[in-house]
Amino acid sequence: MIRVSGLEFAYREGSFRLRIPHLEIHEGSTSAFVGPSGSGKTTLLNLIAGIVLPNRGIVEMDGVEVSAMGDAQRRDYRITHIGLVFQEFELLEYLTVLDNILLPYRINSSLELDREVYERAETLAEQVGISDKLSRYPKKLSQGERQRVAVCRAVLPQPIMLLADEPTGNLDPVNKWRVLDILFEYAEESGTTLVAVTHDHEVLERFGRVVDFKEFQEYERDDVERVEP
Ligand code: ADP
Ligand code: MG
Repeated sequence: MIRVSGLEFAYREGSFRLRIPHLEIHEGSTSAFVGPSGSGKTTLLNLIAGIVLPNRGIVEMDGVEVSAMGDAQRRDYRITHIGLVFQEFELLEYLTVLDNILLPYRINSSLELDREVYERAETLAEQVGISDKLSRYPKKLSQGERQRVAVCRAVLPQPIMLLADEPTGNLDPVNKWRVLDILFEYAEESGTTLVAVTHDHEVLERFGRVVDFKEFQEYERDDVERVEP
């Protein structure tokens, strides 16, 4: 379970403020983050992943306070627990598609890259329709293909939490549902908590819950915990 409490966050520059009095996201649930551009959806994913730290309040995962960990500990926690699909994909241009998908295994000694992992990587690539592009470099991919590589990379280490920032934003309808199927199937099979930012109202009904960031702007003192629909 993710528990956010009394959270206040501001970037060093600019006037943006994120205030979340209380938010709980239950283990194995699927949540969509919606809200206007600039309302802090990406920022909250980064806070949950321990990429940035709150100015006040806590971010807790399974009873462990992520926001109180040191840098190295937070990085380990992220690599071993969280699959991230970044809004900008963050693929490494000098690695092939396959090596990008395998990247978590290359940079983290606690993940062992064996034949079974290769096979799962190939299966994932097939499921999202990029298996003929495994030896290409990201430069020669469309935006939608890059996005699908990012989804494969996030799922491969079998994280207990998947955080996806607009994972279907660049996809045509066929690939949109393919990518969502991967995320939801993986989440269901492994009891993973799935949180995805989306602007796409067509996909919202697949999520167990919708967290609307408008609430965080309008209410500053009240408890804004969203109820399960
Ligand atoms: P969303 O994902 O909901 O569109 P973000 O979380 O990306 O919103 O951004 C929230 C606000 O914080 C925006 O006003 C954005 O311009 C600002 N912001 C994002 N990243 C930074 C940064 N590194 N430094 C300063 N301001 C930032
Ligand atoms: Mg964003």
